[in-house]
Amino acid sequence: MSRMTLIENAYVVTVDPEGRELPTASVLIDGTRIVAVGDPPGALPADVTRIDGTGCVLTPGLINTHHHLYQWVTRGLAADHTLFQWLTTLYPIWAGIDETAVRTAALGGLTSLALSGCTTTTDHHYVFPAEGGDLLGAEIDAAATVGLRFHPTRGSMDLSEKDGGLPPDSVVQSIDEILTASADAVARWHDTSPDAMLRIALAPCSPFSVTTDLLRESAGLARELGVRMHTHLAESLDENTYCDEHFGCTPLQYMESVGWVGDDVWFAHGIEFDDDEIGRLAATSTGVAHCPTSNARLGNRICRTRDLIDAGVPVGLGVDGAASNESCRMLEEAHQAVLMARARGGPTALTTRTAIELATVGGARVLGREADTGSIEVGKLADLVLWDLTSVAHSGIEDPVAALVLGAIPPIAGSWVNGRPVVAGNQVLTVDADEVAADVAAEHRRLIAKAG
Ligand SMILES: [Zn+2]
Repeated sequence: MSRMTLIENAYVVTVDPEGRELPTASVLIDGTRIVAVGDPPGALPADVTRIDGTGCVLTPGLINTHHHLYQWVTRGLAADHTLFQWLTTLYPIWAGIDETAVRTAALGGLTSLALSGCTTTTDHHYVFPAEGGDLLGAEIDAAATVGLRFHPTRGSMDLSEKDGGLPPDSVVQSIDEILTASADAVARWHDTSPDAMLRIALAPCSPFSVTTDLLRESAGLARELGVRMHTHLAESLDENTYCDEHFGCTPLQYMESVGWVGDDVWFAHGIEFDDDEIGRLAATSTGVAHCPTSNARLGNRICRTRDLIDAGVPVGLGVDGAASNESCRMLEEAHQAVLMARARGGPTALTTRTAIELATVGGARVLGREADTGSIEVGKLADLVLWDLTSVAHSGIEDPVAALVLGAIPPIAGSWVNGRPVVAGNQVLTVDADEVAADVAAEHRRLIAKAG
């Protein structure tokens, strides 16, 4: 049987370096890669799978650069609280998570991501209760089941309440435990091949939940192992106050002092950077995962997206965890990125096409995958989404990119990850979404009961 799929008659938004858009074009997939873009190719095997994209827009698959999948089973709590109040409400519930909770939550979160056009996602998992079991393995299993390209991070916390941090004692680990588990995760799962469906990064949680030693040693280990580094940074004014009181500097100055800048580092949020700091991020190619919905949900300030992009900082989009963004839909983040940037910087602060770039090739750059994914070009991985704009929600919208970014999230006619179909007819092909939904509800109830 042919390994080829031909998507025909679609409006193709390539997001290539020239920003080409091809109004009625074809894209040919062979195995895991895109092998032709533009005019319909000549002779093809008779059994090639043909997909009619009439009335649809084809984009690169969207890339999510920040998430906490386990939170899918702890949504809707502390809905009207500040970041620090929200965290202290949720930590005791998160202390009860185990393999079943994490696998169920990840299946829910990944299914929802797939239905919002995501083909590659990271995850920042940093809560490892002593009796929790193999939590990273549980979410990796879920990602393989749903079929998304996955860049989970081995997160960590080692600074609990008794030492001046925010999390309770039961969810933190020692530096030795963390470094051993991190090295094990890289040895077990990290795939350096260009087609890799699975790559690991290291991710101490935030300046207020980890020690300086853990940050320094995690950076050393990540660089020794050749993996990327991720953490939360410059998310809220409370964090600025914390860093000023504890370290006498800003969050970024603190991270710079422990080796946490470089083209192998990306920070979630990055709201509270000043001009000099944005220059230093650009000079070091340190990335930012912009999470507009979560930032607004928690009442934080608005990221300086335009300034970061103009300076040359790699910027991607992130849904952030489901406990601070109950929706977690990737295309919605592109919409919110436009609205937030314009609310801050006026009508020209971010175009709809720039928002699609952030959601695709921008995210690929942040995760170090831009050579292989993030745009529709011959030779790149076949991570693609075909959006159906024929229903009443989108029909007649003049500009297909405006329809995508400013309109409702369209039904997905088809999506492919590594050349494999994951969504068709707006249904996830790899899991039973109704079963996943029922499991998520049951797991939510179990965790709340467990926390008493
Ligand atoms: Zn986060």
